[in-house]
Amino acid sequence: MLEKATLRILEKALAHLGSGFEMLPDSVQACDIDKIEDVIMQVAGRMQDNYPYFHPYYAGQMLKPPHPIARAAYMLSLWINPNNHALDGGRASSQLEKEAVAEIAGLFGWESFLGHLTGGGTMANMEALWIAGLLKPGMTVVASEQAHYTHNRVSEVLGLSFRSVPCDDRARMDVEALKRMLDEGDVGTVVATIGTTGTGSVDPLWEIIELKKDYEFRLHADAAYGGYFILVDNLSPETREAYNCLKEVDSIVIDPHKHGLQPYGCGCILYSDPGVGQYYKHDSPYTYFTSSELHLGEISLECSRAGASAVALWATQKLLPLVRGGEFAQGLSKSREAALALYEKVASDVRFRTLIPPELDILVWAPDGESASRISQRAEDLFKAAAADNLHLATFKYPSSLLENTWPDVRFDQPTVTCLRSCLMKPEHYDWIDNIWEILDRVAGKSVLSSG
Ligand SMILES: *Cc1c(COP(=O)(O)O)cnc(C)c1O
Repeated sequence: MLEKATLRILEKALAHLGSGFEMLPDSVQACDIDKIEDVIMQVAGRMQDNYPYFHPYYAGQMLKPPHPIARAAYMLSLWINPNNHALDGGRASSQLEKEAVAEIAGLFGWESFLGHLTGGGTMANMEALWIAGLLKPGMTVVASEQAHYTHNRVSEVLGLSFRSVPCDDRARMDVEALKRMLDEGDVGTVVATIGTTGTGSVDPLWEIIELKKDYEFRLHADAAYGGYFILVDNLSPETREAYNCLKEVDSIVIDPHKHGLQPYGCGCILYSDPGVGQYYKHDSPYTYFTSSELHLGEISLECSRAGASAVALWATQKLLPLVRGGEFAQGLSKSREAALALYEKVASDVRFRTLIPPELDILVWAPDGESASRISQRAEDLFKAAAADNLHLATFKYPSSLLENTWPDVRFDQPTVTCLRSCLMKPEHYDWIDNIWEILDRVAGKSVLSSG
C-alpha cells in the first residue's frame, strides 16, 4: 500500500551525490545498524496509530500525502542537511529555493518580487503582517470572520489591533461591511482569504480591489490553501475573477505543504514590491557572509530553515511544472471535480443538507434535522459511524448566523451547527467517489435515520 519504488532511485542518487565528494579521504558516520533497525521497527509500529491520510478513504481534514518525488528529494538532501539561512549553510539548496519560489511567483504573474519559503503558512502570514504593520503603524488589520484564526493571533503577537469582517451566506467577506469599517478610518491592512480553511470560500477580491480607489490600505492575500487553484480550468466564473486579480495585491501567502505536494515545513511568502527587503535587514555576527550574493537569511524572519524543503519543492516542480493544463493542474481540477460530484450526491438525497456549493475542493454538508442541535448530534453520529466503516471525515462548527437564510426551516437553538467536512485534496478522491458514497449511504441509513 505504501509506495516504495522511489527507494531504489534514492540509493542510486545517493551514490551519485557521494561521488561529488570523492576527493576527500573516507569517513563514514558511525552507527550501530542492528540497534537502529530495532528502534526503527518500533517507530513503524507506533506510526500505525494514525488515520490513513494517504488513502482516498481519508476524506477529512486538510491532509495530503507528499508526492513520491518530494519524499525522495527531501530524504536525499538529508545526507547534506543544508540550512537555507545562509549560502554557507546550503549553496545549492539556496539556489534551488530561489528558482522554485520564482516559479511560484510566476503563478501570479509576478516577475519582480521578493519572496522565500517559510516553515508554513502561519510564519508566512506573520511576516506579511509584520511588514504591513511597519508600513501602516498603529493601524488595524482586518480579515473575514471565516479567515484563519492565525491572523487574529499573529496580530496579537505583533502588537497590532485586529478586527473581523462579517461574512455573507457563502462564507465570503461581506464587502459592504468592510466598506463601513474603512469609513471609520483606522484600517491599515485588509487580509483577503483566497480559499478559507473551513469551506474553501474565496473572498470577492475584485470588489476589495475596487475599494482601493477610495481608501488607502495594504492588501494581503492569504492563499495558503487555495493559491494553486489559479491553475485549474473548472472554477466558477466568480471564483476565477478573484484569482485573476491576485496579481494586484501587495503580498501573497501560499503553502506548498497544503496543495503543493510537499511534506510539512513548507510555506511561502511573496511581496509584489522587492523594496520591502529593507525591513528585513540585520547585521548578524553569527552568519558568515562569504559571498556578496543575496542570502535568503537576509530576507527572512526565521533563521535556520530546512534546505531539504527547497530541494523537495524544486524537484516536484521540475517533474510537475506549475502550468495550466499540465499534470499538476489536472490533479487539482480532479480534486475540485470530486467535491462537485459529492455535492451533487448530497444535494439530491433527502437525508442530507447542503450549505454552499464548493468553490474549491472542500465540501461542507450536514445530515437533515429540524434544529441546529439535532443536526449537530447526527453529524457527530455519522462522523463516528463512517470512521467505524473506515471512511474518515471531519466535523466543522459552522456559525448558525450564516445559515439562517440558507436553512429557513431550521430552528437555531445554538450558536453553531456541527457539520461534516471533507477536503477532497487527492485526485484519487474523484475515482473513489462512488465507494465513498456507498459507505455514507450505508452508515446514514443505519445511524441517521434510526436516531429519529
Ligand atoms: C493552513 C492555513 C493557514 C496556516 O498555515 P500553516 O501552514 O498551517 O501554518 C493560514 N491560512 C489559511 C487560509 C490556511 O488554510
